[in-house]
Amino acid sequence: MEQLSVLGITAGVHRLWSHRSYKARWPLRVFLCILNCVGFQNDIYEWCRDHRVHHKFTETNADPHNVKRGFFFAHIGWLMCKKHPEVAKKGKTVFVEDLMADPIVRFQRQ
Ligand SMILES: [Zn+2]
Repeated sequence: MEQLSVLGITAGVHRLWSHRSYKARWPLRVFLCILNCVGFQNDIYEWCRDHRVHHKFTETNADPHNVKRGFFFAHIGWLMCKKHPEVAKKGKTVFVEDLMADPIVRFQRQ
């Protein structure tokens, strides 16, 4: 199960939804979405938005998993802390419309 939820993150929210590295038909997207749900991380929309912000503003206060805030924060802590206000501010500048265009992402978000 552990490996499956990791797959849900690397193949799903990371490569598919955040970076659009490949296209997936809906049965695979539903499967990856279920894996994302059991992974106990943020939902797909939030994860991808944060991740795009992370790439755009790496190692600034706007980076949701800013490594400069420490190893623990970068890996797990960011899920438990309130986000730095810069994350929300800069988050509005990244493109996310494609995420909400995906019915599976919208469904999970509700
Ligand atoms: Zn990435």
